[in-house]
Amino acid sequence: MNISVLNKIEEVKKTVKNWKKDNYTVGLVPTMGALHKGHASLIKKAKETCDRTVVSIFVNPVQFSPNEDYDKYPRTLQKDTQLCEELGVDIIFAPSVEEMYGAGNMLSNTALTFVCPPYNLIDCMCGKSRPGHFDGAATVVLKLFNIVSPDYAFFGQKDAQQLYIIKKMVKDFNLDIKIQPCPIVREDDGLALSSRNTYLSEQERQNALSVSQTLFKIRELYNQGITDTKILTDSAFTILNQNIELEYLEFRDFDSFEKVIAAKSNTLVAIAVKSGKTRLIDNIIL
Ligand code: AMP
Repeated sequence: MNISVLNKIEEVKKTVKNWKKDNYTVGLVPTMGALHKGHASLIKKAKETCDRTVVSIFVNPVQFSPNEDYDKYPRTLQKDTQLCEELGVDIIFAPSVEEMYGAGNMLSNTALTFVCPPYNLIDCMCGKSRPGHFDGAATVVLKLFNIVSPDYAFFGQKDAQQLYIIKKMVKDFNLDIKIQPCPIVREDDGLALSSRNTYLSEQERQNALSVSQTLFKIRELYNQGITDTKILTDSAFTILNQNIELEYLEFRDFDSFEKVIAAKSNTLVAIAVKSGKTRLIDNIIL
């Protein structure tokens, strides 16, 4: 079957309904486009797991703050379509903002119903510097779930806080969808792939390499038996490039999302920085 690029919610619903009549399982990979090998790994996993695969490409305005990069976020639908076709994706769902949120609506919670994740999950890490981000992300994901009715949805561990919040939403809203986490895909030199890496100058990219190196150092020290997160943090900071602006480095239990004082198995070590003007996130799980 050739790939279809659909822009209308009703077209997607109709196609999925027909698939379900044939008892096909459906996998959804939600993205904002500018696809790279990280996205491709999610798509490959979806193809392995499900009979039919839908990739959504939507730069979701309600998860960006006014001062963020919504306008300049890379939009490369033609190239993305080619990659999805090569990977055997069945449908790309690429709606307009009006299709998703209704023409003329103010994109705020005075005009639209929003998902409100638990406060302790959004008042920390990326949620602190990006107020409203996770409400917006959870809202669009719930809408995509309702439009595509997937059996499985695939999310990268790269956005660990988002992954945790989506899993929680699925549980709290009793959704019949299996969330499949996928490991972080990195460049050969360790930099986690991100659509925002295209913003980096040569020098900023070079400096950003110290971000994954910091995390890898923490893993190395932990494997040597050091569990005190203060010692781990202090030692690792010697590696972070001086031109990198640190937003946070946090240790969280990836089961409960509670802060961790003594690192243990399944501890998420998450970092957010700025290299130049570009905000980057990365993490490892011990
Ligand atoms: P985005 O297009 O940035 O919203 O990302 C769409 C999905 O791809 C999310 O589930 C991300 O976590 C995932 N993703 C982004 N970068 C990577 C990466 N380097 N490795 C694995 N998954 C990723």
